[in-house]
Amino acid sequence: MLDRTSRLFAAFLLAVLAGFGSQAAQAAAPQHHAQAPGFYRMKVGDLEVTALLDGSAVFDLHWLTASKPAMDDRVFVTHLHSDHIGGLTTQDGKRVCSNAEVFVSKAESDFWLSPEIAAKAPKDAQQFFLSARGIAAPYLDAGKWHTFSDSETLLDGMKLVSLHGHTPGHTGYEFSSQGQTILFWGDTIHEQLLQLSHADITVVFDIDHAAAAATRKQLFPTLVSEATLIAGPHMPFPGIGRLRKEANGYVWAPAIYTDLWAER
Ligand SMILES: [Zn+2]
Repeated sequence: MLDRTSRLFAAFLLAVLAGFGSQAAQAAAPQHHAQAPGFYRMKVGDLEVTALLDGSAVFDLHWLTASKPAMDDRVFVTHLHSDHIGGLTTQDGKRVCSNAEVFVSKAESDFWLSPEIAAKAPKDAQQFFLSARGIAAPYLDAGKWHTFSDSETLLDGMKLVSLHGHTPGHTGYEFSSQGQTILFWGDTIHEQLLQLSHADITVVFDIDHAAAAATRKQLFPTLVSEATLIAGPHMPFPGIGRLRKEANGYVWAPAIYTDLWAER
């Protein structure tokens, strides 16, 4: 331990000296802007295994040899804010998921893709309409953009959960399997410390503030009583957890991180 501590200290000292050294020293040791690869250690019995990240590369899905149906992955989107759908389309307007059929609530699609509604929106909201239209465009052109109403069944074992308020057609997807349930709730919560204990607190990105608050108030008790797992994009890592009722509202109980594949 002492030896490791000394080495860490030496490394730290070197970093400090590099920062405050003479110009000659800096010239001899130029800055490096490439990121350092990472490593991860784990114990396997008495063995210590060290995984090294030595780089990354793009894997072309066409290299897979599975049948086409196995490679298609339907995409269900909670709403059309670009931080939730941006990965669907490349910067130059091409479909990333070329086999995928994209599903979105009709109310959501009608709102964000409407030039008339966009024209009446405040100036600083225009970017949201623009990005939604740009991301949806190649899927619309390919006939792979599908809308649904709240009462439809799109997939066995999946229930649509209307969570409108954040956006007009904001939708959660609840999957059930073997007695367990997980709800992908989109942007029901952005800031868990405040919004779980004060459901009335909304965010500037909510289109309908009153409806967003009402949705939370209606949803939370059910999630607690049914111990539903929640997948929340803006929740702390790993973004999966449950709600727990406390005297002053609710708290987030995150799934415990483990490097083991837990059957639970
Ligand atoms: Zn959003």
